[in-house]
Amino acid sequence: MDYYSSQISKLIEELSRLPGIGAKTAQRLAFHIINMPEEQVEQLAHTMTEARSNVRYCRQCFTLTDQEICPICSNSKRDAKTIMVVENTRDLAAYEKTGKYGGVYHVLHGAISPMLGIGPGDIKLKELMERLRGDVDEVIVATNSSLEGETTAMYISKLIKPTGIKVSRIASGVPVGGDLECIDEVTLLRALEGRTEI
Ligand code: ZN
Repeated sequence: MDYYSSQISKLIEELSRLPGIGAKTAQRLAFHIINMPEEQVEQLAHTMTEARSNVRYCRQCFTLTDQEICPICSNSKRDAKTIMVVENTRDLAAYEKTGKYGGVYHVLHGAISPMLGIGPGDIKLKELMERLRGDVDEVIVATNSSLEGETTAMYISKLIKPTGIKVSRIASGVPVGGDLECIDEVTLLRALEGRTEI
């Protein structure tokens, strides 16, 4: 039985499809939205549509950006010869927040997971290897310390070794299974500074 009008029910249903939003939260959000001033709701919907249609991958590092080349890659003050490999844009943001990393990034958009059927061809690895044809001194592998992150790090190291480019792995100060974005900046910096060649 439909307790609410079908419009409200539809809104609740759409919201509950978002990650981390259960039925109760969806309901709360739906009523919140309905009580918001109309222009504010329009603004929210507009921002979402705009973001969805304008955001794409940076042609160099594959982070999410609304430009062809992201602000980090196009910043001439960044050291383009040092590439930090991260699993996703949120991890990149975590390192950027420390304000202490001067190199550039490469965003894989995932990690190798035989269990989930995610192979090397499903993440941006080929693109990383293409970048390494240019002038690169070091690749810092900053994938998570989960099984998938470690598997990916090993795979990358094996792939890069024959090129003679230095490959290093961030120190394991990062807790096992830890999501990079949940770790505080000091720990992240320590992990970066304590990186070792692999
Ligand atoms: Zn970029």
